[in-house]
Amino acid sequence: MKHNFGAGPGILPQEVLKQAAAGVLDFNGIGLSILEISHRSPEFEGVLNEAVKLVKEELGVPEGYSVLFLQGGASTQFAMVPYNLLPEGGKAAYVESGVWANKALKEAKYFGDVEVIATAKDKNFTYIPKDFTVPADAAYLHLTSNNTIYGTQLQEFPASPIPVVCDMSSDIFSRKVNVADFGLIYAGAQKNMGPAGTTLVIVKDELLGKADRKIPSMFNYQAQIDGGSMYNTPPVFAIYVSMLTLRWLKAKGGVEAIQKENEEKARVLYEEIDRNPLFKGVCVPEDRSHMNVCFLVENPEHEKPFLKFAEERGIEGIKGHRSAGGFRASIYNALPITSVYVLVEAMQEFAEKNK
Ligand code: PMP
Repeated sequence: MKHNFGAGPGILPQEVLKQAAAGVLDFNGIGLSILEISHRSPEFEGVLNEAVKLVKEELGVPEGYSVLFLQGGASTQFAMVPYNLLPEGGKAAYVESGVWANKALKEAKYFGDVEVIATAKDKNFTYIPKDFTVPADAAYLHLTSNNTIYGTQLQEFPASPIPVVCDMSSDIFSRKVNVADFGLIYAGAQKNMGPAGTTLVIVKDELLGKADRKIPSMFNYQAQIDGGSMYNTPPVFAIYVSMLTLRWLKAKGGVEAIQKENEEKARVLYEEIDRNPLFKGVCVPEDRSHMNVCFLVENPEHEKPFLKFAEERGIEGIKGHRSAGGFRASIYNALPITSVYVLVEAMQEFAEKNK
């Protein structure tokens, strides 16, 4: 068995993979695959409706918000957010807490003024910038809740006088959030929700229609809402597997229960990183991510041998992002704590052998 610490597309629950495989061959005993039925069939509509319902339940989405399953990844949201929410001649505020936040703000510049109100670039994104004032005259504040590449995470969301838009691609469903505090939340599915191919968007309806732009339908949230995420053919398989993963999450006790597990997994792993003389953490402890645990070896000569040592023990996907180096163990919802124990043991054994 492999221990999948990959950053994304990330680990999915084994039982979900089995159910998805069965659905590919014969969906719910109808004699047809989920891949070969109309997206307008009652069967697929049932899948989409259940997926939307589960998102609402698991995140406690209040009235007045729409839940969408779109395509184009979180990267399309980098543009779609300003396209829909940033009026001509207006400005938006961005916190540049990581590489993805940087990409998001670059896309926003196509649509209007972007004010970068805080950045962690000076220290290579190893902390979350906190000292900033949110300009009351901006259309929205854009945040990235978890920085997948360098491994920092917002432990608290700042108060804001303007609507908050948050990229939650790498920590959605991993912890409780108060959706009412946000104007818009988006997340690519491929970490905690399902396979690549669909993007979750939760948007407060009253924010739409104010940007006074002409927006082509596929990029227009209102058109997507009006079409019930079916303005065009939706990514049926990605939505199906997301629905199965959300069912799995619900059966496990939901976000609250998984949050406890995630905190424990993170605690165990960071404790070893801090204790083991061969390794060190990358980010300031107070901002460390509970999803992407980034660490380095004290002696660069140990890097390749440790990777090999880990791989021999079935540990996959811990090589750091190409721009960050070192190691990154992603401990998404579906990763069992037993896999974390295996990694910790490998770190201990490796230290023992390299004293
Ligand atoms: N935002 C964050 C925080 C991410 O981690 C990623 C992908 N790893 C993206 C955006 C880009 O997502 P996508 O590949 O779905 O466009």
